[in-house]
Amino acid sequence: MTAPRTYSPRTADLSCDLLVVGGGVFGLWIARHAALKGLDAILIEKDRVGSGASGGLLGALIPHLPERWDAKKRFQFEALTSLPGLVRPIEEETGLDCGYRRCGRLMPLWKESFADIAAKQTAAARQNWKTPETGFAWDIVERPPREGWPAADAMPLGLVIDTLAARIDPRSYLAALRRSIESRVRIIEGEAFATCADGVVETSGGKRIMAGRTVLSAGYETFPILGQLLGGDAASYGRPVKGQAALLAAELDDDLPLVFHDGTYVIVHDGGRVAVGSTSEQRFDAPFSTDAALDEVLDKARRLCPAIADAPVIEHWAGLRPRAVGRNPMIGVLPDHPEIIVATGGFKITFGIAHKMAECVIDLATGGTPELPESFRLDSHLKDRS
Ligand SMILES: Cc1cc2nc3c(=O)[nH]c(=O)nc-3n(C[C@H](O)[C@H](O)[C@H](O)COP(=O)(O)OP(=O)(O)OC[C@H]3O[C@@H](n4cnc5c(N)ncnc54)[C@H](O)[C@@H]3O)c2cc1C
Repeated sequence: MTAPRTYSPRTADLSCDLLVVGGGVFGLWIARHAALKGLDAILIEKDRVGSGASGGLLGALIPHLPERWDAKKRFQFEALTSLPGLVRPIEEETGLDCGYRRCGRLMPLWKESFADIAAKQTAAARQNWKTPETGFAWDIVERPPREGWPAADAMPLGLVIDTLAARIDPRSYLAALRRSIESRVRIIEGEAFATCADGVVETSGGKRIMAGRTVLSAGYETFPILGQLLGGDAASYGRPVKGQAALLAAELDDDLPLVFHDGTYVIVHDGGRVAVGSTSEQRFDAPFSTDAALDEVLDKARRLCPAIADAPVIEHWAGLRPRAVGRNPMIGVLPDHPEIIVATGGFKITFGIAHKMAECVIDLATGGTPELPESFRLDSHLKDRS
């Protein structure tokens, strides 16, 4: 830890090397990596751990398209391939199952143009995913491995099988992550970051926490905090994008691949549950309620996968994804606030990369220079501000 601040009982109620703000998947991973590095960490969460976007239903771990390879895609590939090796110890330590499975993904080809592109993507995956060594492939086939999953009429031109995609159960994963840090990280729920001056964070409940470094991993609510600390509108740093999803009860083989078609996901989780999603709304009046837009996604999913045609819905859910102004995750030390690091903006792919981004955050916090894609860096986002 570089230049840790010393505890002064007169000015602070608590002190730590690292204060993590926000108990979503990103904040939990930051806290876990901090603990593994031997840092004394506190995590504050304004509500309860998992009450933000991370407490949803889907948990798709989806690779970017394999062509037009760049640093961002390489970062995500490394994250997706390393995740099982990091989930396993968490499950062993805690005795909790994260519901992880490399199930693969099926993508029906329903337009000529998609079929042409898919052939190029197969070749790109072979090269960039190193198919001969890793086995991860983007293959075009005429029929799905299981008849009816998805429906034959959804794939007039065959389908792509992506064997890199996986799924994880968001809530089980969060519960296990939390349990894995509980004995090493002080988790304080019901306390929000309110202000920060000279390394002392004041919470909504009036607690003063002196921290060597503070990491803002409060999802979309990080953007107004950036406005407060750096000036300007919250929206000039990023925005929330609403998403809606549903959970169905259906006794299906839990090794079925997830299906993706024209923006709709159908994901079989363990224990007779199937997640369906998602909508994507830039504008919304009711951020946390579901509406007819979700019903449309559900109808589409039921037509796509007739095995869930009559499956009852057991939960409707809506949440707000953090989308940073540069459209990529946003990580970096704040200008003029060397003690504060921002870590947000994972948008639709956070679950597959949070562990690797968190490692970079801890590297930054301890004076290192992590290998982050240029487009993830805070400076790169600040250039994109209007
Ligand atoms: C419908 C839907 C489906 C999705 N599907 C997928 C998917 O399949 N795969 C995938 O990878 N991603 C998916 N996402 C996106 C993913 O859920 C998010 O990108 C991810 O959860 C963001 O994690 P986070 O930790 O950055 O933020 P969050 O999970 O939102 O966590 C931030 C936390 O900070 C807390 N907080 C806020 N302000 C403060 C404050 N001032 N002080 C203290 N705490 C504060 C909040 O209460 C919250 O708990 C989906 C999102 C939605 C809405």
